[in-house]
Amino acid sequence: MAVNPRTLEILEPTGVTEKMLALGLPFRGVRFSQRGKPARELLFKGQVHHKYPFILGLSQATTERLLAVAFENAGGKIERGVELIGCRNEAKTVLTELRHCSDNSRETVFASWILAADGAHSTARKTLNVDFPGSSFEKPWHLADLPLSTPFEEDLGHVLFLDGNRFIFFIRVIDDITEPPKQNPIWRVISPQENTLEEIADVEPAGAPIWKSAFHISHRINRQFQVGNVFFAGDAAHIHSPIGARGMNLGLEDANIFSRLVTSRQMRRYEDLRKTVDKGVVKKNRTVVANRPWRNSNEAPHMLGAIELARANSAVAPAISENCYRPGSFC
Ligand SMILES: Cc1cc2nc3c(=O)[nH]c(=O)nc-3n(C[C@H](O)[C@H](O)[C@H](O)COP(=O)(O)OP(=O)(O)OC[C@H]3O[C@@H](n4cnc5c(N)ncnc54)[C@H](O)[C@@H]3O)c2cc1C
Repeated sequence: MAVNPRTLEILEPTGVTEKMLALGLPFRGVRFSQRGKPARELLFKGQVHHKYPFILGLSQATTERLLAVAFENAGGKIERGVELIGCRNEAKTVLTELRHCSDNSRETVFASWILAADGAHSTARKTLNVDFPGSSFEKPWHLADLPLSTPFEEDLGHVLFLDGNRFIFFIRVIDDITEPPKQNPIWRVISPQENTLEEIADVEPAGAPIWKSAFHISHRINRQFQVGNVFFAGDAAHIHSPIGARGMNLGLEDANIFSRLVTSRQMRRYEDLRKTVDKGVVKKNRTVVANRPWRNSNEAPHMLGAIELARANSAVAPAISENCYRPGSFC
């Protein structure tokens, strides 16, 4: 849902940024409320020193659609319904075994390298026995995208802290801001607890959820980002809580750095460049979500943690470019 400034910057040459900006809604910041009253506000302006001093609200589905069109316009071909069932390094190539889902036929493809971006349950990672250490929360978190009747300002994320250190998070779901809503605006509601929405005054469902899900939170990162000529990116390499709104953004950064390294024939630097950055994000997320450093504070610990995370995640975006990619440093 949230596209960070660094992503907007790296996608500029593809023309996708312009389209994203036309369809998305810039979020100004996050408002934190406690016991029904606004308590703190983190505004990105002044905090995020970047050409795009905001987080762009745009659904991942729209972002993926725009990227797919740009890829195909650039001559790329996306084959759907083809599953990677195994891969192994051979002398100077990678042997990949594919299954065509339409007729169950198999195909063997030799590639000089592959970038495995096959998600959190990566077949490539499992096949190559890459360790994926970290931890997972026992209980699932709950998500619903639904029309709401609410006084919330749409260009802010809203975090409401409830009794017992519980919280609920609201963010507008934007597919295309130019299309007038057919009904009440759709909001994404996320909470570690079920049915917390019922506790919130002034916020009423205005229809059935268009999507409802429970998901598990894990903080994990691959032991290796490269095994021979197989490289890992996105959730296949690292996962963390969605509260940071960084997973997709980080994966796009991985892909961007990887493509530059391929062009400059410096792929061996990939693990070094990306693992440091990705590990830092996973660690920060885990620390904030697990809430450790704020235990002794007088303020609601979740609130400080969340503010810290929002600040870190918005501000870290341009800093990432300084850490791992300086134009001209390796291209
Ligand atoms: C509730 C929630 C909210 C989130 N909000 C944000 C946000 O605001 N901002 C943000 O940056 N991130 C967010 N994320 C994280 C983000 O959705 C993920 O990090 C991102 O989707 C990871 O992209 P990926 O391409 O690496 O993996 P995936 O999105 O999992 O894609 C992997 C692809 O590989 C395919 N695949 C899997 N196995 C195989 C195989 N064996 N062969 C062929 N294909 C295969 C899958 O079908 C899929 O298409 C959120 C996550 C959640 C759960």
